[in-house]
Amino acid sequence: MVSVVENLQFVMNEIEIVRSKRQVAKNEPVTLIAVTKNHGVEMMQQAIDAGVENIGENRIQEAAEKFKSLNREVTRHLIGHLQTNKAKQAVRLFDLIHSVDSENLAAAVDKAAFSIGKIQDVLVQVNLAKEETKSGVYEENLQSLIAVIDNLKNIRLRGFMLIAPNYSDVENCRPLFRRMYEIFGEVRKARQNFDFLSMGMTHDYKVAIEEGANLVRIGTAIFGERNY
Ligand SMILES: *Cc1c(COP(=O)(O)O)cnc(C)c1O
Repeated sequence: MVSVVENLQFVMNEIEIVRSKRQVAKNEPVTLIAVTKNHGVEMMQQAIDAGVENIGENRIQEAAEKFKSLNREVTRHLIGHLQTNKAKQAVRLFDLIHSVDSENLAAAVDKAAFSIGKIQDVLVQVNLAKEETKSGVYEENLQSLIAVIDNLKNIRLRGFMLIAPNYSDVENCRPLFRRMYEIFGEVRKARQNFDFLSMGMTHDYKVAIEEGANLVRIGTAIFGERNY
């Protein structure tokens, strides 16, 4: 049996140890998003009962089912790829959408948010390593996507999200996290309400925090391996 409570304590402790020693973003807290995808609502509820305030899901339908039965309000993060035709469901369900990566998707989210009278907080997902199998805007197209989002009235850009490649040596992720933090800092200088840098998962969250992440998305280390 996986002990969600023990795993959570372990992970939160590790996060704090790394955060307190890091050389960048020194006074910034790091927020844990517990990624419950492919786990049942019981696991989600256990984490919430243990004090988790941020939940990450990657599929709309699964999230909708699980969110129905929660007994406490939590902040809900959509971390997976979003199709434009599901934007309406996404804006109803999620407080922060991490995966905006195209003008079309930004426009669809804006339209959906408008239709329910919401300002939707979003992150732009950046594909710094240019992995073809992954979503995310390439660095050279980032500024123009930001400009498009700035012209939309019902979405608000809150920061960036990065998924690093699954390198067996996690040190290989470091330059990407570092570069992402650098871009984040540059963009942040000129803006308000731009405060989230979402990077780091079970295998690479320590390096991500060392390089300036302030949102980490962790599933396996808390809930165990997923059965797909
Ligand atoms: C599944 C997922 C995670 C969590 O991954 P773990 O390795 O289980 O910690 C984080 N971010 C995204 C975008 C994911 O899809």
